[in-house]
Amino acid sequence: MYSPKVGDRLESLDTPSMVVDLDIMEENIRKLMNLLKPHGVNIRPHLKTTKSPILAKKLIAAGAKGGCVAKLSEAEVIAAEGVDDLLITCEIIGPAKVARLVELFRKYPKIRTVVDSEVGGTAINEALAASGIEEPIQTLIDLDVGLERTGIAPESALALAQHISTLKHLKLIGVQGYEGHLQHVHGREEREKECRASMAILTGTANMLREKGFNIQVVTTGGTGTAEFCATTPGITEVQPGSFIFMDSDYRNAVGTFFSHSLTILSTAISKSGSERRVTIDAGLKSLTTDSGFAEPLDMPGVTYEPMGDEHGWLSWEEGGTDLPIGARVHMIPSHIDPTVNLHDFYYAYRKGVIEEIWPVATRGKVQ
Ligand code: PLP
Ligand code: MN
Repeated sequence: MYSPKVGDRLESLDTPSMVVDLDIMEENIRKLMNLLKPHGVNIRPHLKTTKSPILAKKLIAAGAKGGCVAKLSEAEVIAAEGVDDLLITCEIIGPAKVARLVELFRKYPKIRTVVDSEVGGTAINEALAASGIEEPIQTLIDLDVGLERTGIAPESALALAQHISTLKHLKLIGVQGYEGHLQHVHGREEREKECRASMAILTGTANMLREKGFNIQVVTTGGTGTAEFCATTPGITEVQPGSFIFMDSDYRNAVGTFFSHSLTILSTAISKSGSERRVTIDAGLKSLTTDSGFAEPLDMPGVTYEPMGDEHGWLSWEEGGTDLPIGARVHMIPSHIDPTVNLHDFYYAYRKGVIEEIWPVATRGKVQ
């Protein structure tokens, strides 16, 4: 039976396989910590990228404080593996989710939640009141700083804070304001300028709430493209980058090569059907996502990739024919790391060609 093991060489893996170069990944983690730690912010990496409690623990060992998750169902899995200092960065809306939040909070009282509406806060309060749990849940107001995805408008934040202060089971501890629309702005100067403007909204709102008597301790935000600017903005206490650990081509095109590609999808050239300038590989839409453009073959200048359906992709040579033999192995760089990880069951982490660790993508498919 096919069962890859620690100690096997990379060549023995079947394809497509998601593989991680440990030297590069560890260097990315070191670089992030060295970049941000001197500014005194907490680093709470977003675990929507890795979807792995094992990697969450590695990040904590390297200096992170807990983690963020996008979804409640991710928190359920990751907390059960021992990482329970988690901020759920998406709103908890609907009776099924609110009931799950209460049960999660009963077991793991460090879980933090965000609220961007009175109705959302009230529903959590009522469910907690009915649960018999005494302790209030640590709550952050989710603020819109320009992304327009979630988050209350800054001018409505005071009314929401006043509402939350009437809810016995919610304890307002801070503000979240995620500038997701700025992560991939090309050009460092432009990205920094726009980020500083969003941070002014976030820290300004936090200060206004403090002046009105609210105890705002946490001001959290930032991704791979902006964390450096957030961390150097006075008043930001916590940053949430995720993708830096593996990177992807979309991020590299926007922010450069400070972090390197540590994760690739290992694939095989399986056919030379059609054109002498092309080779078909065994990685298509089910292995590599396309929302942020197509993946790229690693270290193959002049060769482009496009998906050819669910299971196949074409590598095309710009000029001349290809001499890549059938059976050759190609490392593909994902264009968008988070949804690509979510397509795979395992990471095969290697060092110098030898598999050193195998990690399940434990929260794969946990979208609720
Ligand atoms: N914080 C929030 C709220 C997010 O939604 C995301 C990603 O979408 C991140 C942080 C992490 O961003 P990135 O993976 O781009 O570093
Ligand atoms: Mn993403």
